[in-house]
Amino acid sequence: MKESFSRKNNYPVPENEKERLEALYSYNILDSSADKDMDAITLLASRICQTPVAYVSLIDEKRQWFKAMIGFNRDETPREDSLCQYTIMQDKIYEIPDITKNELFSQNPLFNAKNGIQFYAGAPLIDPNGYRLGTLCVIDVKPRVLSIEQKEGLELLAREVVAHLIIRKDNLELAQSKAELQKFFDLSLDFMCIANVQGYFLKVSATFSSVLGYEEKELLGRPFLDFVHPEDIPNTLNEIDKLARGEDTIHFENRYRKVDGSYIWLSWNSKPEPITGMLYASARDITEAKITEELNKKNIQLQKEKEVAERSSKLKEEFLANMSHEIRTPINAIIGITNLLLKKGTAVGKELEYIQTIHINSNNLFQLVNNILDFSQIESGKYNNNSTEFNLKQLIRETVRSIKLSATEKGLSLSTIIDPEIPMRLIGYPEKLSQTFLNLISNSIKFTSMGEIVVTAELVTLNPDSAIIKFIVADTGIGIPADKLDEIFLPFVQANSSFTRVHGGTGLGLAITKKLVELQGGEIQVHSKVGVGSDFFFTLLFPIPEKEKTERNFVEEVEELLVPAGLRILIVEDNPFNQMVVTDTLQEWNDSIEIDVVENGKMAIEKLKINTYDLVLMDIQMPEMDGHTAARIIRSDFPEPVCNIPIIAMTAHASVKEIESCFKNGMNEYISKPFEASNLFKKIVKVLKK
Ligand code: ADP
Repeated sequence: MKESFSRKNNYPVPENEKERLEALYSYNILDSSADKDMDAITLLASRICQTPVAYVSLIDEKRQWFKAMIGFNRDETPREDSLCQYTIMQDKIYEIPDITKNELFSQNPLFNAKNGIQFYAGAPLIDPNGYRLGTLCVIDVKPRVLSIEQKEGLELLAREVVAHLIIRKDNLELAQSKAELQKFFDLSLDFMCIANVQGYFLKVSATFSSVLGYEEKELLGRPFLDFVHPEDIPNTLNEIDKLARGEDTIHFENRYRKVDGSYIWLSWNSKPEPITGMLYASARDITEAKITEELNKKNIQLQKEKEVAERSSKLKEEFLANMSHEIRTPINAIIGITNLLLKKGTAVGKELEYIQTIHINSNNLFQLVNNILDFSQIESGKYNNNSTEFNLKQLIRETVRSIKLSATEKGLSLSTIIDPEIPMRLIGYPEKLSQTFLNLISNSIKFTSMGEIVVTAELVTLNPDSAIIKFIVADTGIGIPADKLDEIFLPFVQANSSFTRVHGGTGLGLAITKKLVELQGGEIQVHSKVGVGSDFFFTLLFPIPEKEKTERNFVEEVEELLVPAGLRILIVEDNPFNQMVVTDTLQEWNDSIEIDVVENGKMAIEKLKINTYDLVLMDIQMPEMDGHTAARIIRSDFPEPVCNIPIIAMTAHASVKEIESCFKNGMNEYISKPFEASNLFKKIVKVLKK
């Protein structure tokens, strides 16, 4: 019998011990601190059963742990030393009236009168799932039996203990989930709040402080509408009204004021608590999305406006084109008829004056219509074409040639000075540049009665990739008063209205020119002195095309201005390869040069008899007739002016003797083959000058 009380796990174990222990642990009661309610129940048990000792014990795997006790003071005992280990095997009260007489315990030294234990009665603590967690028991120092009422009382109190354990467990779980919720509340990047029925904040998440900048106490007790943008209050109230009308959850957006007075956009989800009427709401900052949305809307709007503007500008352009065409036709007729009348020369006196007035005014009207058309086309961006490769020198030459007649008619000299260092090909806007020159030169012609007009192109800087060139259109005309210099580039401004009355003009020319120069990346300026003349100037940067960069050394030019347009050259050369080199080089230099090629001196003589040339390029060694002989014949047998034609010898072996015989035979210059293109050009210019 003694052995059955061995301290080595020799105690009865419930069948569901594992689950029972799990249930016990789930109450989180073991080793918890004293609990007044438990103490009171224990006291009541000792009073009802009239025992000196009563306690609530819980049985875990190894021990009996005391939650509350009356009449003794211990924290725990080993499970196998406990009487309660038997009680948790029962559904009802386990009573041992006299331990000394009990078969199971009479021999156990722990339980006897000396230890103050002779009577034991324990009610198992059974939880709602049927797990016996521990006991509520009473102990006396003398043998006894509990009355029925006392047993009933003990059982009732045991149930109270369990009820208390359950409440305690629920409270713990509640507190834990509350703490968890609070953690999320504190950690959330969104806004969370609770408001009462009156719309006052009761609880706000940390974001209200971190994002909006308010301290929590500033918000609590204030109506949430206080922070809503005034324009968004009606919609917010409408939404909240929906809840009153039975809607379960509402979604809406409004602007919320930050402490610095600025607003952020919030997107809300809100739900009321039906019993208390409290409002639970969560919001997300959607300011960035709103800004993007606004920007997109604006962009769409701008795009629409742009399309409308483009359409109307196109219509305007079409209208102007049609209108100018319609107007130009009758004006042409008027100009033509007044021309005829003036040419007829029959009108005199007042009649002649009238015809002249009609003539001047119709010309003015014609110019005005053209200028308005140009101006509107620049305004509408029609001139915004892409840059292209062009030959600047050729452009200046052709532009000047096209207007030269007007200058000559007035007895004015119109010349160009072009820096020979300017690369032949550049990238720019030839149409705009040519129009710029035309406008400036025609103004100079108009405002100059005597002297000259000079168009200058001056290389300011030459970089490997680009050239900066300054252009000047200078005249010796009437000049512009200093106080008008700033205004003349404005549309419809004229410095000298009386002059204009006589010579016409619209006041649009310089406004157009200014825009044209700006479109090319420059800025037009003017220096002028009344009675002395005016210099209009601007500087432009031109990228140099790849091809030009690699060929620059080859095509480097000399003062092209001195080469008359339509220069005619006779090449006398028997070698087809050399013929091609000379022809191509000359045409690269100036494609307006007219070239004839013959194979020997004899053929050259024949050509010179029938054609007129400005220059002969003469090879020396040729079949049939060599260069020396041909030169001699030209000088001696031909009449003037052919006998004086400049001849440049092209020699393969430029020895001193050879050069001497060239000059002796009447040649003006020599060049040794293979030649540098620029050298040939220089020599041509030199002989032509002479
Ligand atoms: P328009 O020549 O049709 O009057 P512009 O815009 O071309 O209009 O020129 C505006 C004014 O600037 C002219 O009326 C004239 O007073 C002055 N102006 C322009 N170019 C010259 C010039 N080369 N010499 C003197 N005055 C000029």
